[in-house]
Amino acid sequence: MAGKCIVILGPPGSGKGTQAVRIAGELGIKHLSTGDLLREGVARKTGLGLEAEGYMKRGDLVPDEIMLGLIHEELGRMGDSGWILDGYPRTLPQAESLSGMLEEQGRSIDHVVFVDVNPEVIVRRLTSRRICSGCNAVHNLEMEDMSEGDGCRECGGELVKRPDDDEETVRRRLEVYGIQTAQVVDYYRRQNRLVPVDGAAGIDEVTAEILRNVK
Ligand code: AMP
Repeated sequence: MAGKCIVILGPPGSGKGTQAVRIAGELGIKHLSTGDLLREGVARKTGLGLEAEGYMKRGDLVPDEIMLGLIHEELGRMGDSGWILDGYPRTLPQAESLSGMLEEQGRSIDHVVFVDVNPEVIVRRLTSRRICSGCNAVHNLEMEDMSEGDGCRECGGELVKRPDDDEETVRRRLEVYGIQTAQVVDYYRRQNRLVPVDGAAGIDEVTAEILRNVK
């Protein structure tokens, strides 16, 4: 039997990436983050990475033509397995084309989780977020009572700030989210598929709330 298809939506910094990894682990499904795929392309200087880099640096969305091709390929690769999509869809055309692609496979989205958080909380969270350059663990200086220069708590690696986590770019990303991605939330809300969760709650509470709704 085909596994569950879940979409997780929310503003940048809502913790959706962290939750997606946990939910994928709990349900035994794959985690697909378009942001991670694009960053990998940028790091490896692939054609996709070179095309996407400028948009990402500014906090803008990578154009739909590029994203539609990328996701089509990735979904094809995943075949019948279940997955949780993190960071996709972010525009109405992406949402509509995703429904079309799934229909062709005889599948549909089972749940759309919407992690909601107030924008000012997000600016604070993202500007103090650091990523381990060794193991990719995500830390937060403010929330974990850590100081600039501390090593990763998982592996001791160097913690770095994502280039798009400076305050100006974070505000731009939130603006883009408000203009484009909020329409995607409405699209799924109208289809009665939206599972809203309060992203301001603790990480474990948010995970438990999501699992209660998608299991
Ligand atoms: P994220 O890690 O999900 O915050 O994504 C980081 C950046 O990658 C975004 O600010 C966009 O520039 C780009 N990106 C990721 N997913 C998408 C998408 N579905 N559509 C367009 N751009 C995307």
